[in-house]
Parts: sequence; structure tokens; C-alpha cells
Amino acid sequence: MERCIYLDHGATTRVDDRVLNKMLPYFSMNYGNPSSMYFLGRRNKRAIEEARNDVACNIGAKQKEIYFTSCGSESDNLALKGMVYANQYKGKHIITSKIEHPAILNTCKALEKQGFNITYLNVDNKGFINLDELENSIRVDTILISIMYANNEIGTIEPIEKIAKIAKANNVYFHTDAVQAIGNVTIDVKRMGIDLLSMSAHKFYGPKGVGALYVREGIDFERLQDGGHQEKGKRSGTENVAGIIGLAEAIKYSYKELEYNNKKIISLRNYFIDKLMQLNKNIKVNGDREKRLPGNINISFPNMDGQQLLLKLDEYGICASAGSACSTGESTPSHVLTSIGLSKEEAYGTLRFTLGKENTKNEIDFVVKVLENWLNKS
Ligand SMILES: *Cc1c(COP(=O)(O)O)cnc(C)c1O
Repeated sequence: MERCIYLDHGATTRVDDRVLNKMLPYFSMNYGNPSSMYFLGRRNKRAIEEARNDVACNIGAKQKEIYFTSCGSESDNLALKGMVYANQYKGKHIITSKIEHPAILNTCKALEKQGFNITYLNVDNKGFINLDELENSIRVDTILISIMYANNEIGTIEPIEKIAKIAKANNVYFHTDAVQAIGNVTIDVKRMGIDLLSMSAHKFYGPKGVGALYVREGIDFERLQDGGHQEKGKRSGTENVAGIIGLAEAIKYSYKELEYNNKKIISLRNYFIDKLMQLNKNIKVNGDREKRLPGNINISFPNMDGQQLLLKLDEYGICASAGSACSTGESTPSHVLTSIGLSKEEAYGTLRFTLGKENTKNEIDFVVKVLENWLNKS
């Protein structure tokens, strides 16, 4: 196998072997359409419902509150558009933050063109929204608050329970894009008061091309796709059976092994940060040290071109990311980094390493050595 040190788990993850094995029969033996009434179909329908139950149990939801989609982006679209279309008679105001993923920000932009009003909340220098600003932004015509659970670039975990409380006290629905958080931190939608939540399998060692949306029982939302009756008519199209089985299997393992993996990943992360700080005292770690995703390291190197540094790392088979994977190739600095107050120059000198359960101390030592050589040369 080619030499590869994968430190980009925020972009995607390798499918866990156990997950893959569970999925394989659904491409070959179990190929029935879940809507077919004969055993080949019925069996797959049952498998999907078991998967739905597994997903629900792992986030404190009920089976019927889970809708399968094609990805995190679709879940975000369905949550935002589905909710505001169904509630627009009450008002047309939505509150979100400036540091959301493009799946949320661009959906909001599309909604603005359709006549909805959006408030984009500021964040402080660590990426936290201000709860007073949130409360003051709520108007009589506010119908939805959407704040991400954890940021994909800097790893900051937002005060979700407090946001949910404010939303509830003001009779406003609360959606959270938890695509980065699911599988990495424990989440209980009922206890935390979350109304809608998006997830995507490929961010927690499941397959690409499958996601889910949790919608609290009793909340109605509009479908965005017309067709058959699948997913209670809310998301038409023959189910991605193998993908759904994979998503459920991946979420089960993620939470079963969460404590073990996080302990290992956090100690590796802190080791990496300490080593980097020893290289150069002016290196800046972005985000919060405590309230952050276990595997996320976002660092600004002084007077450094992050793109060049990434190419250098690539020569050694090291996979990392500059800012957000989604903004790679664009010449504008990351909206997240500028929102936390970084200058353009600082933003361009910023790299994101996201560690996963398979990374080792040897790999980190090697990366540090490559960075050390490069930093000493330039
Ligand atoms: C990856 C990601 C998405 C998009 O998920 P896809 O399954 O790739 O469409 C949305 N939000 C956040 C925070 C993400 O990290």
C-alpha cells in the first residue's frame, strides 16, 4: 500500500472494515427493493427500520424521527428549506451564524433570494456565538435558528443546550448541523432540546453518499423532492440500502468505542500541539482548547503560505487541509478564520489537521520532523 499519513478526518474518513463487511451483502445477495412485497424486498425494509432504530438510539431519538438522505448537505437543505417553507405563514426570519458550513450558508443565500430574512450571528475569537446577541436577534417573525454543533475548520463546540433553551423559550425551532460532531461527542437530542439535527455517515467511518436528518416528532416540514412514498413521503427515491446499513453500523461503533478512541485522539492531539509549539513560539492554535472536537488542530504559522506547506506535506504523503476543504482552490480566505478575527495573511498561513482513531504517535513524529525541516529552511 502507498505510504499515507491521513490527518484529514474532518474532510472524510476511511470506511471501518466491520462497516464495509456489513454493507457488502446489500450490493449483491440482498438486492431487493425495500418497497417490494416479496421476501427479498420485505427483508430489506426490515433492515432499514432496524438501522433507523440504531441511529435513533444513539442520539436519544425515536425511530420514527429519523429520515435518511443522500448526505449532510441534503440534510441541511431539507432541514432549512423544509422547515421555513412549512412555517412561512408565521414569519420569514431565520437566525444562523457566520461560521456555518457552505451547506447552510448557501442554502440561506438561496432563501434570501426567495424573500426570507437571515441574521448571521457574529462569533468571538474562539468561534463561539454570543447568547445575548442570539436572544436580541429573535423577532416576532423568527421561525428557525440553525447553529452548527461543532465547526468543521476550528473544531469549536457551540453551547447547544443553551441555544436550544433560548429557542424554546421564544417558541422558535432549533436545527443544528452536527455533521462534525456525530460520532465524536455524545449527543442526546431529547435531553438537549434539539428539534432538528443533520448528520453524514462519511464523517464517522461510514460510507459517502448517505446522511440522516432527525426531526422531532410532531414537527411538520415540506419535502423538497417529489416522487414515491419513501421516508414517509419526505424524501422520495429508492433507498440506498447498503449506505443506510453502513451509516447505522458506523454510528454504533463510533459511540460504543467513543471513550477509548477519544482518550487516544485527545492525547495525540495535545502531543502534536506541544511539539508544534516547541518548533516555533509564534505558532497560534485557533479555537478553544477545551470545547473543541477531539481530533481538530487548527494552527496559524507566522509568515507562511499554507498552500505551499500543504504541497510540501503532500510530497511526503501527508494529507492535511488548509482552512476548510470546501474552500480549497478559492483565493478568498476562509470565512471562518476571518470571522474569528484572523488577518488575511494569518488565514493564508493556517492549516487544519484532523486526527482519527487510526493515527499513531510515530505518524505525528514524522509530520513534526517534516514541518521542522520546512520551517527552518524558510
Ligand atoms: C462535511 C460537512 C457537511 C456536508 O456533508 P456532506 O455529506 O459532505 O454533504 C455539512 N456540514 C458540516 C459541518 C460538514 O463538516
